[in-house]
Amino acid sequence: MTAPRHHVIVGAGTAGLSAVEAIRRASPDDAVTILSAEPDPPYSPTVLPHLLAGRIDEGRIALRPEGFFVRGRCRLRLGAARLRHPAPRVGLGAPAARAR
Ligand SMILES: Cc1cc2nc3c(=O)[nH]c(=O)nc-3n(C[C@H](O)[C@H](O)[C@H](O)COP(=O)(O)OP(=O)(O)OC[C@H]3O[C@@H](n4cnc5c(N)ncnc54)[C@H](O)[C@@H]3O)c2cc1C
Repeated sequence: MTAPRHHVIVGAGTAGLSAVEAIRRASPDDAVTILSAEPDPPYSPTVLPHLLAGRIDEGRIALRPEGFFVRGRCRLRLGAARLRHPAPRVGLGAPAARAR
């Protein structure tokens, strides 16, 4: 049995959110943090043209339903991500966490 780990995912797009779901399925006890450089909750870029054209409202652009991060016990950090290359370190504003 391995000790619980802390997964830090950079980028809250489709790929990042799919990673959250996969980690949760495989490792229910691990901690998961997802970092987004953007100030708003994850949205689908594919529907932005429809939003700009006024065919849908902002309530229809979320990539995941409300409560996704609470149910998945995933910490979402908006507007906070700063990836330093090439070292695998992630700056969170407070003490840095080492990504695994
Ligand atoms: C207008 C439009 C229409 C589209 N229509 C379709 C379609 O009809 N069908 C289709 O299959 N695809 C479509 N796409 C493409 C689809 O949106 C992308 O393939 C998909 O979003 C890719 O997901 P991703 O998670 O890989 O990347 P992204 O959605 O780009 O998400 C990556 C996230 O990571 C963040 N990020 C990147 N670097 C850092 C960093 N260093 N620190 C912190 N955060 C970071 C970015 O801000 C972003 O939020 C469309 C795209 C656009 C823009």
